[in-house]
Amino acid sequence: MLEDKVAIITGGTRGIGFATAKLFAKQKAKVIIFGSKKESVDRALNELQKEGLMVDGYYPNLNSEEEVVAVVEKIAHQYGHIDILVNNAGISANKKIEDTTVTEFHQVIDLNVNAVFHVTKAVVPYMKKQQNGVILNTSSMVSIYGQAAGIGYPTSKFAVNGFTKSLARELGPDHIRVNAVAPGVINTDMVRALPKEMIHPLIQTIPLRRIGEPEDIANAFLFLASDMASYITGAILSVDGATQC
Ligand code: NAD
Repeated sequence: MLEDKVAIITGGTRGIGFATAKLFAKQKAKVIIFGSKKESVDRALNELQKEGLMVDGYYPNLNSEEEVVAVVEKIAHQYGHIDILVNNAGISANKKIEDTTVTEFHQVIDLNVNAVFHVTKAVVPYMKKQQNGVILNTSSMVSIYGQAAGIGYPTSKFAVNGFTKSLARELGPDHIRVNAVAPGVINTDMVRALPKEMIHPLIQTIPLRRIGEPEDIANAFLFLASDMASYITGAILSVDGATQC
């Protein structure tokens, strides 16, 4: 479904991003993953390359405009085009507002919102030149329902939705589609790190009575990245088993 497409996936070293990188590469995309550290990028690349998949990886500081622009330029030069960007890297939060420091709040916004802006801004000129491209963002079910703790996290994901819908309008005339997937509770390190008291009550609110797997989200990204979704832009696709918090 993605033959010869060049796809950049941030936060591609594990969890949802890793599953998406694997699926896209299996669908014959040339995948470039971004991670936070050399070791985690190398580990993910090893695992994917062992399966014979075509992947490459970098670890730019996503909050450095200079580093992001340089690595995107390098990729564009090497591959000749950039067709798909998945802004997936993200961190969560779960403290009460009184216990959240200003630094912790800013850390969440820096990665979940500002980094999305940096990477997208770096990629858009190439997509505009091609007059074609797909930008996908990882939002969250908390962007719809809010969350009773970790205020920076739902705040960041509401911002991701606004970014998605607005950029879809701005870039539509250039044939660039912009969509987001809003996952429910997904079986990744991020969720495994949450206290059990938070996860168990959540599962009871899920009509499908299971948490999702990273592959459930990767499948949604594949659909949205493919030409099957050629008339879909500005959408926030919930993939959450009909969860209602
Ligand atoms: P994860 O913790 O398994 O993976 C996070 C990824 O982000 C990793 O590849 C990591 O290298 C990268 N990352 C973390 N900090 C970074 C930094 N400072 N700079 C660059 N990269 C960094 O998490 P996940 O559950 O796979 O989450 C991926 C996305 O899905 C996030 O945006 C998250 O908010 C969203 N999400 C997850 C869930 C869930 O239940 N797991 C639900 C809704 C939304």
